[in-house]
Amino acid sequence: MSNCQNYNFPDQKGYFGEFGGQFVPEVLRPALTELEQAYTELKNSADFKEEFRNDLKFYAGRPTPLYFAENLTNHFQRAKIYLKREDLNHTGAHKINNTIGQILLAKKIGKRRIIAETGAGQHGVATATVAARSGLQCCIYMGAGDVKRQYLNVQRMKMLGAEVRTVHTGTKTLKDATNEALRDWLTNVKNTHYIIGSVVGPHPFPMIVRDFQKVIGEEVENQIQVLAGRLPDYLLACVGGGSNAIGLFYSMLKYKQIRMIGVEAAGCGIESKKHAATLSTGSPGVFHGMKSYLLQDENGQIKLAHSISAGLDYPGVGPEHSFLKDQTRVQYFSVSDKQAIAASFLLSRLEGIIPALESAHALAFLENLVPKTSDSEIVIVNLSGRGDKDMATFGRFFTEYR
Ligand SMILES: *Cc1c(COP(=O)(O)O)cnc(C)c1O
Repeated sequence: MSNCQNYNFPDQKGYFGEFGGQFVPEVLRPALTELEQAYTELKNSADFKEEFRNDLKFYAGRPTPLYFAENLTNHFQRAKIYLKREDLNHTGAHKINNTIGQILLAKKIGKRRIIAETGAGQHGVATATVAARSGLQCCIYMGAGDVKRQYLNVQRMKMLGAEVRTVHTGTKTLKDATNEALRDWLTNVKNTHYIIGSVVGPHPFPMIVRDFQKVIGEEVENQIQVLAGRLPDYLLACVGGGSNAIGLFYSMLKYKQIRMIGVEAAGCGIESKKHAATLSTGSPGVFHGMKSYLLQDENGQIKLAHSISAGLDYPGVGPEHSFLKDQTRVQYFSVSDKQAIAASFLLSRLEGIIPALESAHALAFLENLVPKTSDSEIVIVNLSGRGDKDMATFGRFFTEYR
């Protein structure tokens, strides 16, 4: 294509422009170096590529469909709306793409024990799943608040043989679970691999997780050509840490005409200060091993994040998104809890698909975007996961949405 850009990030030191890097205690550095070396070797090996591709195909169920949402399109009466059905993956979200890749890496570097953090529990389930299949010991850290609101996923992890460690510190959410997982890794780094669940943390994690998730956009690029004979005009995805979003965007960053939009959680509203809109309202700082946008006060203290969706309830974001924001290549907006709930009911009733609360944030943005489009345009939304885990939350709104 004539409009190809040379996009080659992160650089040798693990930076996306000024973001990223490796802000960790010295004891973790050898493990990160070992991981990067193993990954660099593996990613070019034909055996590894084939094993990864086969597991995605026969175990996770890829390629996931690109579905033309005709009823949703008729509802808004403008651009054609397509949904990338990551909810149809084994275990119900895009998270399995990353855990399948990382468990192969863990085996390559000879680690016998797997740990992970989880918010909504989707990453915990996806990790427990691949650990079970590989016969590796597995321990998942989860905030006490999230254990309560995502109980189905806690049960699933236990069913799969994982130990779930409930974290009672701080806000009892994803941030605190990540702290505890990092602490565990510090202590047990010799025999333990930490499968980070999003494009966050110290280099090389943001790069590795992105590379394992980019299959989403690569499939979309082919599927939309077959279905519509051309590339899309808009890509929409929700952003917690940013892995489903970068997974959709990455292979198409080179097409400058495609507008890409990341949707964060505005929680109770930006003014309420109870939100998780990191890129929309935060500022650069260092957190969980990386330099990126953060929700922090004037003294650099991390602020409390809030979202009705446990998977978006995080005060940080992947460094590549911070870079893409400052480059203005991707735009970031936010929608409230209320808008996400409304979008969940709309999709369920119009298309017979119950979305994850996280994915519903991307869907909710259609209301802002689609009225400004024309009927010759194409919008693709990443439906990152299914909503079974959120039924207790949806149930609280049944009287409102009869
Ligand atoms: C974990 C999760 C997210 C948020 O994580 P990202 O890394 O931003 O993708 C979004 N949707 C679903 C269904 C999830 O499970």
